[in-house]
Amino acid sequence: MRNRQLKCGWGMGLAASLLATIAPAHAAEVKALRIWAGPEYTRAVFDVSGPLDYKLFDLANPNRIVLDLHASTFTADYGTPGAKGLLKAVRSGKQGAKDLRVVFDLEQGVRPKSFLLAPAEKFGYRLVLDLYPKTKPAVVKTMQEIMPPGAPRNVLIAIDAGHGGDDPGSIGAAGTYEKVITLAVARELKRVVDREPGMSAILTRDGDYFIPHKERYQKARDAKADLFVSVHADAFTKSEARGSSVWVLSPRGATSEAARWLADRENRADLVGGVSLDTRDDTLAAVLLDLSQGATMEASGSVANQVHASMRKVGPTHKNYVERANFIVLRSPDVPSILVETAFISNPAEEKRLNNPAERTKLAEAIVDGMRNYFRATPPPGTLFASNMKRDKVSRHIVSTGETLSVIAARHGTSVTALRSANKLAGDSVRAGDVLEIPQG
Ligand SMILES: [Zn+2]
Repeated sequence: MRNRQLKCGWGMGLAASLLATIAPAHAAEVKALRIWAGPEYTRAVFDVSGPLDYKLFDLANPNRIVLDLHASTFTADYGTPGAKGLLKAVRSGKQGAKDLRVVFDLEQGVRPKSFLLAPAEKFGYRLVLDLYPKTKPAVVKTMQEIMPPGAPRNVLIAIDAGHGGDDPGSIGAAGTYEKVITLAVARELKRVVDREPGMSAILTRDGDYFIPHKERYQKARDAKADLFVSVHADAFTKSEARGSSVWVLSPRGATSEAARWLADRENRADLVGGVSLDTRDDTLAAVLLDLSQGATMEASGSVANQVHASMRKVGPTHKNYVERANFIVLRSPDVPSILVETAFISNPAEEKRLNNPAERTKLAEAIVDGMRNYFRATPPPGTLFASNMKRDKVSRHIVSTGETLSVIAARHGTSVTALRSANKLAGDSVRAGDVLEIPQG
């Protein structure tokens, strides 16, 4: 799990910038070029034998990027791949006596970014070239903007398929890539969410490309999503490890994220939970952020409990509780966020299950069951869930850790007897995560 975070790429940026500046002139072999195209950028990755010197420059009329690789040779099986995304064509050849030149012909002007990556997992050295369009892609529409004014809106779920592009994630016993499974589950989850009354979904990625972690949750924030769900598949050295798990952000993760938000001027002008932190009063900003984060973490815990409980009904769970870790994608300070490990891709039986569309539907339906329970009990204002609750004159309560029937009864101004009969309870025992109907009047 923690290893995967490194694999997920937060070590990448650091290693990259160090290498790019200290790389000495070396003769390197260029083994392969792979290209991925996403809606936001196009990524070209060269597999190289070691650190190498390179020069990058862009030319207009026609638009192209030229990459000169110093003192390098192509291996015998190097082939130039077909063009994709922002690329019209890719050409490569020798440049002078010792260098190689790769020319990327472009559809439009781009902002290039390049960096070297040190070996990680099964990958050796890589030279990465990211090409961003100069024109920004269309802004995400929020649910409030899509729905007719005055009508109750749908709750919006941002579904994040983990990994993608040059980051395959974990690799299964039979060779299945986690990035392929996460996308298949994410798409199925979107399909199931969209047919659910009062719910709509968006995907952070809908293709085979990589998105940085911060951008994943930023997309959910931009769309004003009510919930962010990151989909993954677990891996462990022991192939017997099995079961799904649900994760939320650890308090340590929240604390370090709060420090970053408060320190970052750009972030401070941003809105968190509807309030701007752009105040000169540091204490006030910290309090506002703390309030928003606290509410978000509580909501994340509730929805995670619900999803965990409903996933238990369709298959084994790895632990019998919701787990916590400092995952970057879960750090949104104002969108409740959970990470679902659907199963262990390293377990041959579970890998097979993840490759089966019918099993993926079962998983998606279980996740949606959990979400529905959560939104029924705690509907965001202005949503169809909220107006249904008013119409049905019913309210619901999610039991949190340590709560007893009498505490819940007192809080809602009802009696233990009324609670028992409304929920057909034989005794007084309730479990954290249970949803209780609260009788009205
Ligand atoms: Zn993963």
